[in-house]
Amino acid sequence: MPRMDFRPTREQAALRDAVQRFLTDDSAIGARAFLEDGWINGWDPAFSKRVAAQNWIGLTWPKRYGGQERSYLDRLIVTEEMLLAGAPVAAHWFGDRQIGPALLAHGTDQLKNELLPRIVAAEVSFCAGMSEPGAGSDLAALSTRAAIDGDDFVISGQKTWTSFAEHADYCYLVARSDPDAKPHQGISEILVPMSSPGITVRTIRDMVGETHFGEVFFDEVRVPRTHLIGEINRGFYQIMQQLDFERSGIERLISNYPLWRDLKAYATRTGLTANKALRNRIAEIEIAYWAGRGMIYKVAGILSSGRVPNYEAAVAKTFCTSLEQKIAELVTEILGPASLIRGGPRSIFDGRAARNMLYAPAYTIQGGTNNILRNIIATRGLGLPAR
Ligand SMILES: Cc1cc2nc3c(=O)[nH]c(=O)nc-3n(C[C@H](O)[C@H](O)[C@H](O)COP(=O)(O)OP(=O)(O)OC[C@H]3O[C@@H](n4cnc5c(N)ncnc54)[C@H](O)[C@@H]3O)c2cc1C
Repeated sequence: MPRMDFRPTREQAALRDAVQRFLTDDSAIGARAFLEDGWINGWDPAFSKRVAAQNWIGLTWPKRYGGQERSYLDRLIVTEEMLLAGAPVAAHWFGDRQIGPALLAHGTDQLKNELLPRIVAAEVSFCAGMSEPGAGSDLAALSTRAAIDGDDFVISGQKTWTSFAEHADYCYLVARSDPDAKPHQGISEILVPMSSPGITVRTIRDMVGETHFGEVFFDEVRVPRTHLIGEINRGFYQIMQQLDFERSGIERLISNYPLWRDLKAYATRTGLTANKALRNRIAEIEIAYWAGRGMIYKVAGILSSGRVPNYEAAVAKTFCTSLEQKIAELVTEILGPASLIRGGPRSIFDGRAARNMLYAPAYTIQGGTNNILRNIIATRGLGLPAR
């Protein structure tokens, strides 16, 4: 029987060292460390450019587009170290994680040549326009229209919860291109420049007070048909595969790891771990963290072998994001009212625990809710009947 060897290769160990060195260098993140949720709230294009200068964006992509042709495990090492350090990686996150792989899978040569090298150089950014007021889990219910008029699509409708809408150069839009087809069969993916006339963005303030997402209104926005990604009316099926990329990263496990690491150090320093019940709860979470990390590495291994992780990504995301919520709850419970205080001698972690507690419901919603993922695990994973 082949032996399972979890040791990193020499190149992987060197890569992890290099990322750690980069991150401890003051000029890399310095005072701008975002700590928790840096992949979605830490928008810092200058930091992304410094990451690009290290050749760490588009790591798995072909060299002719500026990539390094390295493995998904290598990419995981880079993203893991970035998030553990709380780096503000949001400005290149969607391009690197989702849009680049989607273009590689379905984009025309023109779009690939034009955009992939710019993603690698952190010169271009993206938002993903899928959800609408009447279509979230049931994406096929979307009503934003992409009518064909000569050489253009004419787009009208509304998206919501669009992360980075305010900053992004392009929206990766999913819209209805054939209103007469069955719901799943009349949808296309189109790359829309956010500077196009007719687009209005209205930011949404979340419970934490942050404004990383927003509503996007499209009023007869004209986009050349050359911006179509993949096949016309096949967008729904293409996007289902992209979601497997979106769901399976380490960001689903360690969005709030900096807080967890600080809590463990605090509990040890202040003697809280003398309380056996508390010690056990901390240990339970630590055990689950290692189990979740194993799942994420397994999914990266599946991607490296050329397979698309489907229900495996759903298993990993469901387990790991639930754990992130448990971390937020336990840290807040342990700190009590002090978790709320920002600054001053009575503050512990500068209000980060309370902030994370308020943010945590997002973990099991964004990228597909846990209910939807359980459906995927049951049907596609276990072969149970859909109804
Ligand atoms: C922080 C954050 C960032 C986001 N960023 C983006 C983004 O960049 N782009 C984008 O397009 N969207 C984004 N979203 C939106 C997100 O994808 C949707 O919120 C999510 O898919 C759920 O859709 P919904 O909110 O419409 O809820 P609904 O689909 O209305 O679901 C409501 C409830 O019903 C349950 N439910 C629905 N259908 C079923 C079913 N078939 N079986 C069992 N239970 C079901 C759900 O689990 C949920 O509990 C973001 C969301 C968050 C929180």
